[in-house]
Amino acid sequence: MNAGHDTLLLIVADGVRPDVLQSALHAGELPHLAARAARGAFTQVSSCFPSVTGPAYAPFLMGRFPASIGLPGLRWYDRSRKTASWPSFARSYVGPEIRLLDHDLDVHPQTLLELATSSVAGSTLLGRGARGDRHPGRGWLWAARAFLPHFRGDLTGWRRIEQQVVDRVLGYLQRDRPQFAVMTFLTPDKFAHAFGAQSREVRESLRDIDAFLGNAEDIAKRNGWSDKLHVWLVADHGHADVSNHDEIADAIRALGHRVLAHPKVWLRNPDVAVMVGGNAMAHIYVEPHHRQRLWWPQLADKWESLHDQILARPSIDLAAVATDALTVRVSHAERGRATITRDPRAARWSYHRTTGDPLGIGTDAANLSSSEAHDVCAATDYPDAIVQLADVTPSRRGGDILLSASVGWDLRDKYEPTRHCSTHGALHRDQMMVPLLIDAVPHGMPRRTADVMPSALVTMGLKVPDGLDGVTWTR
Ligand SMILES: [Zn+2]
Repeated sequence: MNAGHDTLLLIVADGVRPDVLQSALHAGELPHLAARAARGAFTQVSSCFPSVTGPAYAPFLMGRFPASIGLPGLRWYDRSRKTASWPSFARSYVGPEIRLLDHDLDVHPQTLLELATSSVAGSTLLGRGARGDRHPGRGWLWAARAFLPHFRGDLTGWRRIEQQVVDRVLGYLQRDRPQFAVMTFLTPDKFAHAFGAQSREVRESLRDIDAFLGNAEDIAKRNGWSDKLHVWLVADHGHADVSNHDEIADAIRALGHRVLAHPKVWLRNPDVAVMVGGNAMAHIYVEPHHRQRLWWPQLADKWESLHDQILARPSIDLAAVATDALTVRVSHAERGRATITRDPRAARWSYHRTTGDPLGIGTDAANLSSSEAHDVCAATDYPDAIVQLADVTPSRRGGDILLSASVGWDLRDKYEPTRHCSTHGALHRDQMMVPLLIDAVPHGMPRRTADVMPSALVTMGLKVPDGLDGVTWTR
């Protein structure tokens, strides 16, 4: 162990809304987190689209948006048939295929777990770089422990298992102080789905997080490295009340299509694959027998009517299609249509209203930098929509039509195992904005969860690789 190295502890509060964390901090329920925030900053930043656990871990652990590195959603269809296996060629990270998430990622971009000289990951869904014992919460033994609580919806049992993971992570902090440790708390998200994002149960789970931080700080103090401990907290997505569930796969079946969708994925010759994840977003793949994706102008003759029929449903807010690798058409049933273009060489984005203003930006905007594109969306209901839609819609594993659900709606119903009253996945503010708590004053303005990763590298004294979507707020 290098006695001089810094240790960054990143706490992931899965599905915690910024306002919920803020009110618990103000109420004095989270003394250790409040003390950290007092030294640094408590703010909110945007996650990615889809705003869902799994893909939305890529920004803060890899500094990259998920679709361009192989994770377009919680569920996706593998047109190439090279990654997901026969017979369905469909991927779902809900359930046992979660173990494949690290393998589905592109090989080259590295995670914080790979870049730090030693790391530990507690319960983290994207965990490439934390091997074997250093990834408590992952592996068949942990899966066996979590099986019953998961399927019974036994949230107390789940919380008990999470505490076992916490103990293991604290054990590593005590024994060999890693350069980077991430501890993911999944209970807030589970409680939010079951009882609501503002519920007493979510507030209770925040106390678990604060108690964990208190224990980590005690270990650092006892071992004389308090001044080397940095603690940040981030979340992967927000949460929003949902009361209407539209089984969108059934709706498309009712229009006369052979639809492949979970759990009915063993279907010969589907003409549409529907991959909902979040559950307030979906990828719609048409003619899934094509091994490579076609751009929308080649599909429109046959499929524009399906696009319009879906968009007319009250459950659907936005629909996006890629007209080529750099151009996205986004539509809203009443607010009309606009075009987003990306110039990757100059790293510039544009938004052009064609028949309307679906994103509610109020103006055309050309030649925006990544930060400027973020800022023009900041006051709308769609934080970072320009950059996010330009990233995920044309991505190689993305669907031909991307759907973001209306407020109060999500897109799975009768096949969803547990009842839920809160959802996420869509581009709406409540689902996209997450808390960011850091214990040092930032030099730049944190905008996105993708900014966490390069800033973490600088804090640990490591080099920031090229090609990231995030930018550092540290100096
Ligand atoms: Zn969730």
